[in-house]
Order: sequence, then structure tokens, then C-alpha cells
Amino acid sequence: MLSRPRPMITEAARVFATLSLGFAVAVASSVTAFAQGVPVIRDAEIEALVRDYARPIFRAAGLANDGIDIVLVNDSSFNAFVTGRRMFINTGALMMAETPNEIIGVIAHEAGHLAGGHQQKLRDQLERAKTMAVIATLLGAGAIVAGATTNSRGLAGAGMGVAAGGGEMAQRSILAYRRTEEITADRSAITYLNATGQSGMGMLKTFARFQTALSLSGAQIDPYRISHPMPQERIANLQVLVKQSPNVDKLDPPALQQRHDMMRVKIAVYMGGQAAAARLMQKMRGSLAAQYGDAQSTYLYGNLPAALVKTNALIKAQPKNAYFQELRGDILMKANKPGEAADAYAKAVSLDPARSGLLPVSLGQALMAVGTPDSLKKAIIQINNGLGRDKENSEGYRYLAQAYGELGDIPGAELATAEGHFYSGNYKDAKIFAMRAQQRMKRGEPRWIRAQDIINYKSSGKI
Ligand SMILES: [Zn+2]
Repeated sequence: MLSRPRPMITEAARVFATLSLGFAVAVASSVTAFAQGVPVIRDAEIEALVRDYARPIFRAAGLANDGIDIVLVNDSSFNAFVTGRRMFINTGALMMAETPNEIIGVIAHEAGHLAGGHQQKLRDQLERAKTMAVIATLLGAGAIVAGATTNSRGLAGAGMGVAAGGGEMAQRSILAYRRTEEITADRSAITYLNATGQSGMGMLKTFARFQTALSLSGAQIDPYRISHPMPQERIANLQVLVKQSPNVDKLDPPALQQRHDMMRVKIAVYMGGQAAAARLMQKMRGSLAAQYGDAQSTYLYGNLPAALVKTNALIKAQPKNAYFQELRGDILMKANKPGEAADAYAKAVSLDPARSGLLPVSLGQALMAVGTPDSLKKAIIQINNGLGRDKENSEGYRYLAQAYGELGDIPGAELATAEGHFYSGNYKDAKIFAMRAQQRMKRGEPRWIRAQDIINYKSSGKI
């Protein structure tokens, strides 16, 4: 299930203010943007797929040994950015890419910037920042630069003032690579793609699209296009490099293409609305991806028994697909059958090759809804299991606090609330709840020690 956690506005604004003087105006506009809509979405299936795209490329680039976190930004423009440990990618980028290779090419290019140490100072700052703060920065950066380019009002208008006052300094300090850096990143990208036996055609297609789109006036400005300058000669040089590669005609494996199609259908159904989803499903008609979209659409907009029949058919086609089981769990939860939903989520957890922290939390929610003392205890185990894999899942701590509360474990609930604030970067409230939790704990017990860690934690001051 695609879900949207609540944004942490104060933290975002604070980090914004510390990044550079040029951001001062952007703070207000970014907070407005945050208040209007939650920019991050969580989804086990999509995160796993994008991680599968990135992993071989990062390995070829000699980066990130222990896996990277994928952060999905709910924005229809094209953008992608890697801080080091985390990769931020817009749903718009995933929707625009018709093949995995198009996204993999962009990831390879980003890995080239990372390996080349380009924009290292900004990257270091963002690496220390909490996820929500980085999103605000990246969205804000797009708004600022877009404002400088389009002369439009509102959000972008605020950005225009920054760009005009700070000149090139402001733009440089946000995120804009030099032409020489672009050439280096392109060359590195081709090296990584060759090392992993993949074509550069997807990257070329994506960048060439930006090149032609530049002539359109009044169209939405993709932040990616502005931070990565794409003059004609760059595309021409890239074309030569791509065509020289022995892998130029290689296509994505069919199974990967199928997962890509299923991801796009899912984003369309959950984020784009019924009409957008119907258009995409029409293009993919007859495929499992179209069937998947139909089942999800029926779940969201139609009736639950029909959605269940369609999902059972999907499970029959791919019995080992964890995310079909997850959809079954979502449907059963909505149908108020938490016991059966828990069974489906439990299957999803056991089938999930990516060991996402989100699925155990969903299982925990279903067990909470069952509501017996025994199922509440099981829920706590599952949610803790999920949070152990994915510490920044602030929703998870809310459910954990609720489960402890329902069992009458008040200090447990307070500590879970403290953890939620802590991992959201809200250290002040985290300390308040940690101190409250300690008042009812035995001094020195493991939970008391964890609360003490939160109380003693000193944020670096900068971010
Ligand atoms: Zn670039």
C-alpha cells in the first residue's frame, strides 16, 4: 500500500535556514508547499524495485556497500538525487520512464556525480539531515531555480527573488553541476552500465527528452533538467559513447520490465487518479500489470469483494509475489476482517525478498485490530521488528505507542512516542517523552537506558 507519512515542517525549515543565506526566502515558500501536501510516500514494492535498479550500479561505482535507502518523493516533475546513504527520486521520474533502463541510466549518472565528489559539501550537509528536511531542500531548490527561469508567480516567484539577489552564488549553492562535471558523470555512467552489462540508451533517451523539452515555453520545469545542464553538444557526445558500447541494443530482462510496469500502474492508480490509471492500463492491456492496476483500482474506487476476487487471481498467477499478498491484506483490512488480513500480511512478510520494514508494521496494525491481549502482544513484536529494519518510519512508532497503550503499558507508549519524535528529528519533544517514560521505569532496565540515550542525545547543532 502506498502511504504518506506526516511531514516535519519545523525540522525542514530549520535545516533550510542553516544551508545557505540564499535559502532564507525559500524557507517560507517551502513550508507552504509542505503544508499543502505531503511529499514523501512509502511503498515496499517500489522501494525494493528502485533499490534493485541502484544496487549493481553502486557496486560498479565502488559506492555504498551496505545498501541505500530509497526515498520516494510524490512530485510529478522529474528529479533524482543521491546524498550517499539515501537516494531521492520523484514519482514523476518513475512515471516518465517506460523502461527500467531509463531510470537505471539516470541512477548511473547520479552515481557518477557521487563518485566524482561533485557538490560534495551540499551532499555532506544533506547526508546528516533527516529525510523530510532533504525533501524540503530539494523541492525548494527546484522552486527557486524554476522561478528564475519561468518568470511565474507564487512559489516560483519567491524563488526568483533569491536568484536575482544572490546571482550565480545562490544557484550554485543549491544544486547545479558544472558542464565539466556533467561530462565526467556521463562517462562514469557509461562505465558502470558497461560493467553491469546494460545499455546507455535509456539514459540517452531521458536526457535527449530534456533537451527537446527545453524549447517548450510555459511547460513545467523539471528540477533535474536545471541542475544538470544539457546543451546539444553534451547529448551528441553521449550518443557517441552509448553507441560504442557492446550493450547498446540490450533490453531489460522481461521480469524486471514487468515489475517496472506494475510500479507505474501502482503510482498511476494511487497518485494519478482513476482517469490517469485507466489510460496507462489501456496501454498495457492484457498484461499482468494491467490486471494489477485493475485490482488496485477496484480496491480504491470499486467494491471490496470484486477487488478480492481480482487479487486472488493475481496471487494464482504469481504465488510468490509478496505485494499481491500485501494488497490482499489491505483489502481485507478495509473489509473489516483483520484476522484474515493478518494472515495475508504474514505471507507478505515471509515472501518479501527485500525484507521491507513496512510489511511487518502492516501486519502489526492488523493484529492490533484483532484486539485481543494476545494479538496486541504479537502486534508489538511485529511493529518492533519492522522498526528495527526501518528506524525512520514515524508512523510505525505511533502504532507501537497505541499498542502499548491498549495493553496498559504507559511507559512503553511514552518511550515509543519519544522514539517517533527522535527519528523525526524533533529532539525537544523526544526528550520530554523520554523523561516521562523514565518516571515509571526501573532505573537501569534496558528501556530506561534507551530513554536515557534520547535524553543525553546532543544534535550536532548544525543539522
Ligand atoms: Zn548531472
